[in-house]
Parts: sequence; structure tokens; C-alpha cells
Amino acid sequence: MSVLRLAIPSPLRSLFDYLPPEHLAQDQLGQLQPGCRVLVPFGRRQVQGYLIEVAADSELPRESLRRAITILDHQALPATSLVQLCLWAVDYYQHSPGEVLSNAFPQGLREGQPHQPPGTAGWALSQRGKGLPEGALKRSPRQAQALALLQTFTALPASELKARGLSPGILRSLENRGLAERCVLQPPRETPLCQPGLALNPDQAAAFAGIADSFGRFSCHLLEGVTGSGKTEVYLQLIARCLERGDQALVLIPEIGLTPQTLARFQARFQGGIVVMHSGLSATERYRAWEAARTGSAAIVIGTRSAIFSSLQRPGLIIVDEEHDASFKQQDGFRYSARDVAVKRGQLENCTVLLGSATPALESLHNALQGKYRHHPLPLRAGSSRLPVISALDVRKQALQGGLSAALLTAIGNTLENGRQVLLFLNRRGYAPTLQCHDCGWIAQCRACDARMTVHRRSRRLRCHHCSAGERLPQRCQNCHSERLLTNGLGTEQTEEVLCRQFNRWPVHRVDSDSMQNRSAMQDLVNEVNGGEPCILLGTQMLTKGHHFPAVNLVAIIDADAMLFSADFRGEERMAQLLTQVAGRAGRGDETGTVLLQTHYPDHPIVQAMLAETYAEQARRMLSERQQTGLPPWGRLLLLRSDCADAAAGESFLSQLRRQAQATLPAGCRMIGPLPSPLQRRAGKFRSQLLVTAADSRSAQTAARMLVAVAVQLPVRGGVNWSIDVDPLDL
Ligand code: ADP
Ligand code: ZN
Ligand code: ZN
Repeated sequence: MSVLRLAIPSPLRSLFDYLPPEHLAQDQLGQLQPGCRVLVPFGRRQVQGYLIEVAADSELPRESLRRAITILDHQALPATSLVQLCLWAVDYYQHSPGEVLSNAFPQGLREGQPHQPPGTAGWALSQRGKGLPEGALKRSPRQAQALALLQTFTALPASELKARGLSPGILRSLENRGLAERCVLQPPRETPLCQPGLALNPDQAAAFAGIADSFGRFSCHLLEGVTGSGKTEVYLQLIARCLERGDQALVLIPEIGLTPQTLARFQARFQGGIVVMHSGLSATERYRAWEAARTGSAAIVIGTRSAIFSSLQRPGLIIVDEEHDASFKQQDGFRYSARDVAVKRGQLENCTVLLGSATPALESLHNALQGKYRHHPLPLRAGSSRLPVISALDVRKQALQGGLSAALLTAIGNTLENGRQVLLFLNRRGYAPTLQCHDCGWIAQCRACDARMTVHRRSRRLRCHHCSAGERLPQRCQNCHSERLLTNGLGTEQTEEVLCRQFNRWPVHRVDSDSMQNRSAMQDLVNEVNGGEPCILLGTQMLTKGHHFPAVNLVAIIDADAMLFSADFRGEERMAQLLTQVAGRAGRGDETGTVLLQTHYPDHPIVQAMLAETYAEQARRMLSERQQTGLPPWGRLLLLRSDCADAAAGESFLSQLRRQAQATLPAGCRMIGPLPSPLQRRAGKFRSQLLVTAADSRSAQTAARMLVAVAVQLPVRGGVNWSIDVDPLDL
């Protein structure tokens, strides 16, 4: 007697066996596919689980098994290959199967809602009806008329039959005679109208040909193209080719709200048949987009990270744009990398995967250089623009206003006078990162985190950038009640003040998560900036993502030093990526742009490297430096984290884990820690971590499985939460 083996959304990492629902026939049971949703009792609740397999038997005694309540889908909604992808991710990321599987469904369908098949209800000719000679059913003329219509069209919407005077009753009579049957007519596949593309330059053409030739089977490609080299044009033409083959294309981009231009370019090239998936959509919009992707009525799906788990009917090409971007890695719960999942998906679905970036992650570059991915460099800018010239501005001993040196202020003034735009990068929002008492030295700290509160002068508040804490800006020191409070350090609000005062003839646009809160704000800004009038753009990381501002001629990094002394082994890689991306916003028009780096350390090797080497050169050098240390991409990492209101309990959990796992860990694996995490206390919880280094992917996988197997057996005291992060980005 069979059992249903289910994944259930809960933190538990095991599968659960249930008896099939009472009235399910044996042949129906045999037809159930992995990924079917099943409603079951779970504890005292009813929850939706996902069928993994119909198993012959359970390891548990039959009497102890509970019975499933009902089967929600008799046919699985996601493609089988997508369910396989999820199961791969369950194992690779060592995460709960139910939570992983739920990523393959939109919200409503995660909560037990019935699936409404798309399309319209209709009637079709049955097998028997097909065999009937024309002119049959003489004695019931209406039925004969309906049959004749179905013989001509095979299937018709019920509404159309009704319009011809053929009521549902007549069709039911045909159904009873076994001549007609109900059906669902799928909406027609939308084929977008494709506008002609640009004539590709030789590098683009070579990349295009190399990638297009590989369509129809699995292969992974890295398009390493400097900023403005025309990567997007290559994507667009590859998509057009993919659609000509009748396949669908999936495009992952970092953040849709922040890159309205990328989306607009896709929509301008392909009219109709594009759906967009991101967190800003309503549940209904998401559902529609998901369904259009799944049934194949949408030809192009553009989405952020989670779109990698949307089912496609005819996957042909998966593009990950700005593949180095950290937003592709989910940082909590199910900690997957959408880029890495994309590559696995290509393997399972036999399709082409294309990773593109001006600043590829060392992981991807490594795979390309090792020959695992095919490598397509675009070393030159497309069209007539040239890469900007980068120089350092030594600010030692210089007077700074709002963080800006006199030399930089002059350069800004000249650029504006010449009718050009200026882009200034400062990666700290707010007015100042510290509020300090001049009389006693008190500093405003977050009560819940090991962090200082940031001063936001506009909203007159202190805010913690690590948790949601906020309070009114105090007038007095909370220690000695002095009114002499100082703001130290620099944030975008402060620089904005100075810029507005100095350059009051020109608009100053501040671009950070405070000023860009609503969804249309970025779009409005982009429209205005692309009007081309001189202005100043001042912003954080947000400004660096894929924007194309042809009139920006001067780019300056206000505080390059902030990035120089990172403790993270990826610090230098991140800085090089960020600076290259910021610099890449300059000179996209006809004139060569200028990039200025303000620093107190003009001789620092990283600053020197930024001036002397291209990203491609820096990346290859960093790659060989990493080889010495065995860090990724040469080796692999796992991070086990604990978080707990009691600092000692979290750390002792990890210590026990280390002790018990030590002996059985595969050769070449090492454990470091437990150590307090950077910013140990956050939102009231103390965080610790145990780092595991492994020589290769296989031993990392074995170690991940073993560590989780040990951890789930350990007694958890004092409310310790723990998690595993496979291939962590932040250490
Ligand atoms: P990337 O995605 O690499 O940053 P884009 O695709 O945005 O580069 O291209 C940068 C600019 O160059 C755009 O204005 C684009 O229209 C233009 N461009 C791209 N390819 C060509 C080409 N083959 N000929 C002329 N201009 C091009
Ligand atoms: Zn004080
Ligand atoms: Zn906080």
C-alpha cells in the first residue's frame, strides 16, 4: 500500500509520510507527479505540502501515519525539471524541502488556494465524435449543428457556441453520448513584435555567434564586457534568436525598481509577451506573471532573484545580468545564489545560461578561465564613447566641506558650467554616522545592536541602519544633559546641503534609499537626468547599478578610504567592482569622462591598482592571490551561524557542533571558530559563527550534510537559532 512522501513548509529538514486521501483510486495515485500540492494535517493545523514521491512503503508503522486530506493538484503545476531543481537546492543548500519547494509557487498557491487553469472553458470533439460521419444525428438538429461545428474547428469556447444559439444543455447531450468533451482553451501564445537591433561590432558579433550556436543544449557563458560595451544589445539579439526558435527567455536583473532603463530597453525592443516579476507586484499581478511564464504564453520573463524558480514551458535561454551583484544571493532563510541556481537550472533543462557583467565575480571568472564556462570578452565600449580616465585626489591636509575638497568643488563647477552632469558617490546615507556629546563624549548607540545611531537631520531622527530602531533627534546629551551635541562623519544629506549652497543654480538630486522610497521616484529621476540639462547626482550604491546617463561627464568617489580597510576577504574585489561600476557611469556620451577618487592614501596598493589596472587585470591578479590562500573560488566555504538572546548559549551550541563534527569531517576541511560575528549584537540577538573551509566543492557538500546532520541532533538550549550558509558572501 503506497504512501505520499511530502515536503512540508516548516524549518524541519525531513520529508513526511502520509496515507493517501480516503477516496483516491489506485490509478489516480499512480499518476500523481512530484510537485503536486497536497493538503494534510500537521500538528494541530492543516498545511499544504508538496509531493516528492509516491513511495511503496514507509519506515514508520502504518498505524502512526496520518491521512492526507485532499490532493490539490492532480497534475503538478511546476515542470518536473523545476521540482528537480528545487530538490537539488534542498541538498546543496541544506535547507528545508518544504520551504525550498514553496519558491516554485506564487503566494496564493502557497496557501492552499485552488489553481484556476488559465484560458477559457470550451468544448472539444471526443475521440468517438471524430469517428462519426458528417451529417450524423439527423434526429436532433441542434446537436447535429454543434457536432458539425466541432468537426470543423475541433474545439470552441463555450461562449462562442452559446452565441450561435447552442446552449450548454445541447452540448451536455453530446457529452452524454460520448461525442463531445469539456476542455480548456489556452490563451494564444504571445509572440512579441521584435524591433530591429543595432549592427553588432566585431566583438559583439563574435559573442553573439558563439552563444547562439550553443542554443538547444546546456552550456554556460560569461560575457565579460566593460561598462558600455554593448552587453545589453547582445542580450536583446540573443533573446530575439531564442524566440525565433520558439523558446522562452528568462532574464534576471538585480533590482527592477532601480533599473527602469534596462526594463524600458527590453520593452522597446520586444512589444508584447514580456512579463516582469519582482517584489513590488501585487499578489494578483505576480500570479498572472507566474502563470504566463508557466504556460508559455509569455515569451520573455524578466525578474529579480526569486524569478529563477518560476516554471517555464519552453526554457531556451537564461540571462543573469550584472551577475556579480550581491542581490542575487538571498541573505536569510533559504540562502541560495540565483546565479548559481541558474547554472544548475540550465543543466537540468538543457538550455543556455549567459552570465554578463563588466565586473564579473571571481567565481565566474575562474570558471571561465578554467574552461567550465565559455568566455566572451568585450574589451571596448560600443559606439563612439571611450572609457573614462581615473585619477586620485589626495585630500590630506585639505579643507573639506561636506566631504568635498576645493579641487573637487572646482571640477564640479567647471563641469556644470560646461553644461555637463556630475555624479558623486558616497556610500553612507543620512546626515552623519555619529552623534556625540562635546562635554562628556557620550555617543548615541542603538539599544539593540552594537552600532551607532545615524543622524537624519531632514526627518529629525536618529536611526539604526541595522535594525528598525529610531527615535527623535535628542536636543540634549542623554548622559550629562549638555546641549552641545556634535555630528561626526559624513552622510549624503550633509554633502547635499553643501552642494545646494555652493551650486544653487543647478539641481542637486540625492539618490539613496531614503529619497527613493516610492517606486516611481527612480523613473522620474532617470527621465529628468536623461533630459541632459546640467545637474548633480549624489548617491549611494543605488546610483551604480546599470544606469546609462550619457550627459554625465564627471564622476567622483567622495570617500574612497571607507572601502580600503575591509576585514572581509572579498573587500578588495567588492571595492574594485563598485568603483569600476561607478566610474563606468562617466563619459557614456561623446566626450571622454573623468573619474576622481578622493583619498588620504593615494599610495595604497588598492588605490594604485584602481588607477593603473583595468578591472579585468585586477580580477586576474586577485584570483592568483586567492589561490595562495585557498579561499573561494579555489576552495569553498560554509558558515554556520547562531543567534540568540543569550550570547553564551549560541556560542556553546556552535562549540558542541564543532566537537561532535570534528572527527568525521572530510579530509581538507577545517573549522574556524566559533567566533562572534561582525556586529555581534543585532536587533537584540547575539550572533556567532563557525566557518568551515573546504578544498573543493565535493568535500564542502559532504561537510554541509554532516554538519547539518549533527546540528539537528544537538539539544537546543536557551532559544538558540542556527542556520547554515553554503557559499556565504559576507563573513
Ligand atoms: P552595457 O550593457 O555593456 O553597459 P549597452 O548595451 O548599454 O552596454 O550599450 C552602451 C551604449 O552603446 C548604448 O547607448 C547602446 O545603444 C550603444 N551600443 C551598443 N551596441 C552598439 C553597436 N553595435 N553600435 C552602436 N552603438 C551601440
Ligand atoms: Zn554629555
Ligand atoms: Zn539597531
